Order: sequence, then structure tokens, then C-alpha cells
Amino acid sequence: MSLVIKNLHANVQGTEILKGINLEIPKGEVHAIMGPNGSGKSTLSKVLCGHPDYEVTEGEAWLDGQNLLDMSIDERSRAGLFLAFQYPMEVPGVSNANFLRAAMQARMPHGEELDAVTFYKTLYAKMDQLGMARKFTSRAVNEGFSGGEKKRNEVLQMLLLDPLYAILDETDSGLDVDAVRTVSKGIEAYRKQSKGSLLIITHSTKILEALPVDYTHIMVNGKIVKTSDSSLIEEVNENGFAAYESAE
Ligand code: ADP
Ligand code: MG
Repeated sequence: MSLVIKNLHANVQGTEILKGINLEIPKGEVHAIMGPNGSGKSTLSKVLCGHPDYEVTEGEAWLDGQNLLDMSIDERSRAGLFLAFQYPMEVPGVSNANFLRAAMQARMPHGEELDAVTFYKTLYAKMDQLGMARKFTSRAVNEGFSGGEKKRNEVLQMLLLDPLYAILDETDSGLDVDAVRTVSKGIEAYRKQSKGSLLIITHSTKILEALPVDYTHIMVNGKIVKTSDSSLIEEVNENGFAAYESAE
């Protein structure tokens, strides 16, 4: 069981951004991709979730033996993939509770109904775990949310959907100390509650220091240029990305 990416090339508006990505994330492992701004990290996460603006020109991606690139966005989610975007979308007029309930319902086996009591019980338990106020549920999805609130919301979604593979894009950027703590708590809770894998994408090392990262990858100019264990986090912390950029 794993997420396998082989020689993945992808274009955005005719320009090649991903230039041959190779990556394997076995189930249960935590991997981090670090890299400077513009190196293609968000592009990789969008390609994996099936965003229509990103064109795969070469390569493969397999999720537990299923061809990910052949699947619709919906099918990818049902297969257990979860993506928290760097810039989450707003959904005016839809309450957070209804949004989360629909998302959970969509992942239930066919014909099974998610009843309100079960839903709210689960929702409130997870919110308490993250220290989130109840009023959060009645607000429209991400509308007027601060950066920290959006990220908390995504972590809440992740805990509710309980995906097999979760990709978190820049989950820590622009967050204050409390929000980073909530996000870290959420990631830890996810690690405890599920046997899922995590791919954490970040340009800063802040959130990684508190997490049990199995492997760290450095992405520069659309390629993974180095893979190592968590010691790489410290290396980047001290020296930045310059050494990897000049070697590229
Ligand atoms: P990172 O997340 O590592 O900072 P991105 O994947 O966001 O990098 O961007 C990589 C490159 O692709 C950048 O040069 C960016 O301008 C370009 N790019 C990404 N998405 C788009 C898009 N939707 N339209 C045009 N250019 C894009
Ligand atoms: Mg990005």
C-alpha cells in the first residue's frame, strides 16, 4: 500500500513546471517536501488531486495500485486522498457544518446514511480535540476566516474524513503560534487515529520540528534533488536552500 509517483512531468499554461518527480510514500509514513518558493510544490499537490489547470505530460501516479491520473477528483477522494490547499476556497452561503457533513456523507459506502446525531457527536469531539469554538460550525465555509481559522478548518476536515493519504500544502505559513499549535495537534491526532500517510509540503521548517517525519525531500525547479531522513530539516534550517539551488 503506497502512493507512488514515477517520472511525473506537468505543465501549467504550456510551461513545464514538474520536470520528472519520483516519490514513494508507503502507507503510514510521514514525508515532507521542502523547497524554495516557485519550485513546484503546490503544482505537485494540485496535479495529485486532479486540478484541471495542470496538464500531466509524462509519468505515472499510483494510489494503492490504482492509476490516480485516470481518476476524477471525486474518485481520488473516495480512494482516500485528501488535499489541504495552500489557499482554501470560500463557499458563501454554505455553513461549515453542512459542508463537513456533505463531505463525510460522500465518503460513506453507497446507500449508507450519515445521521445527524452521529455527525454532530463526531464533529464536536474532533472540534474539542482541536480547541475550536462551536460557533465555527454555523459560519459560511472559509468566508471571512483568518488564515489560522482556514487552516484549523482544514485540519478538522482531515480528522473527520480520515483519509488514507493526506497532503498538506503550506499548512503552517502565515500562522501565529497558537494556530501552528492547533495544526500540529491535529496532525498528531490524525497520526494517532488513523494508519494513514502524510505528505507535508512547506517552505519553512517550523511545523516539521515537532512532527515524526520519516523522510524529507527537497524540491528545486520541478525536481526532487535530495531525499534523507529528518536530519535534512535541521540542515535546511541552518543553510537554507541555496546549496541545493546552485547544485541544480
Ligand atoms: P511552490 O508551491 O513551490 O511555491 P508553485 O507550484 O506554486 O510553487 O509554482 C511553481 C511555478 O509554477 C511558479 O513559477 C508559478 O508561477 C507557476 N504556476 C503555478 N500555478 C500556476 C498557474 N495556475 N498559472 C500560472 N503559473 C502557475
Ligand atoms: Mg506553494
